[in-house]
Amino acid sequence: MTRAVLTLNAGSSSLKVSLFPEVGEVPLASGLADKIGPEGVLTLKDAEGQPVAASGDLSTHAGAMAAVIDGFRAHWPELDLVAIGHRVVHGGADRDAPAPVTEALLAELEALSPFAPLHQPHNLAGIRAAMAAFPGVPQVACFDTAFHRNQPFVNDTFALPREMYAEGVRRYGFHGLSYEYIANELARTAPQLSIGRVVVAHLGNGASMCGIVNGRSVSSTMGFSALDGLPMGTRCGQVDPGVLLYLMDQKGMTAAEITDLLYRKSGLLGLSGLSNDMRTLETAGTPEAMQAIDYFTFRCQREVGAMAAALGGIDALVFCGGIGENSRLIRARICERLGWMGIEVDHAKNAANDRVISTHLARTTAMVIPTNEELVIARAARAAVGLQEAAE
Ligand code: ADP
Repeated sequence: MTRAVLTLNAGSSSLKVSLFPEVGEVPLASGLADKIGPEGVLTLKDAEGQPVAASGDLSTHAGAMAAVIDGFRAHWPELDLVAIGHRVVHGGADRDAPAPVTEALLAELEALSPFAPLHQPHNLAGIRAAMAAFPGVPQVACFDTAFHRNQPFVNDTFALPREMYAEGVRRYGFHGLSYEYIANELARTAPQLSIGRVVVAHLGNGASMCGIVNGRSVSSTMGFSALDGLPMGTRCGQVDPGVLLYLMDQKGMTAAEITDLLYRKSGLLGLSGLSNDMRTLETAGTPEAMQAIDYFTFRCQREVGAMAAALGGIDALVFCGGIGENSRLIRARICERLGWMGIEVDHAKNAANDRVISTHLARTTAMVIPTNEELVIARAARAAVGLQEAAE
């Protein structure tokens, strides 16, 4: 019998899956169903990176999920799923921890769809599909907003009329599962730093920063939506709301057109006119690609400064996400004008992608910690069925 926990992350046209053993940090298998629709592609790999054969109807999420499960069952005939954990982008104003999936919870989360229309409906469809495929297996929803929910009011609100705050127009912050993982890793491996003031830069296709004091989120760059803060692959990051008024009033753009502009055509892609992919920009060498990188690193520097101010200082800066974990150029560029806050990169360590990339004389420790959102979800799913202690 292979007892295991499944983690699911259902996006608009993708389904990320990992199958974790009852105990341990290394998944038995993970994979991605991408471009779900007529051109769907499914890749599953085991812990050694060897392909796990899987195929099926990839035209819908439910079909993709069935194909994944069939692939797992063919590979592990004795598979016994004990719990399923789901990534859910929005948990609303009150949820600060994972929650067991019930019909009441689903109704509550559906009511939040207007707050995250591009993600929440797909996350919930993923849960429904898993409930249909595995009736009786406990399911747990893990929220990207939960880690930030106890921030001070000044970081939680906008200066809009109060009734809007009550209605839920707040700064939720996202990437919370990633920040939770980093906070736990710091507590495990660098307890002295973990009780201090830490700025975590999650720099991937989506990018944000979080200020953490003693393991708790104090401030984040993402706000009401996952558009705010840092520029991203295709998302704009912070933009003057007056620009949106101009686009509506003067250019007659619809909400759908503005959504497309801000979510899919802006950020690194919009500025470079070339690509949303940092690797492509680093090698392109065009003036526009270099300006896009300049803007990205400048805004990161600015936000590290803003975070440090919000935290009353900084003891560590941690990089994670695809860019943060891999791009020595971007890390060095972000750190290079932060010497005034005690950040000093050791270029050999940075080039080697070491865990600590600052010099040993630096007042502020700069680190690279690969994030692992799936493991956070798996731990929550294990905890839901009483396996957490065994796993830790
Ligand atoms: P997502 O937010 O979609 O999970 P990732 O965290 O995988 O995205 O990050 C994707 C980004 O990481 C892309 O911009 C990619 O170019 C960048 N990236 C990955 N590896 C490198 C590398 N070696 N150098 C520079 N950028 C990298």
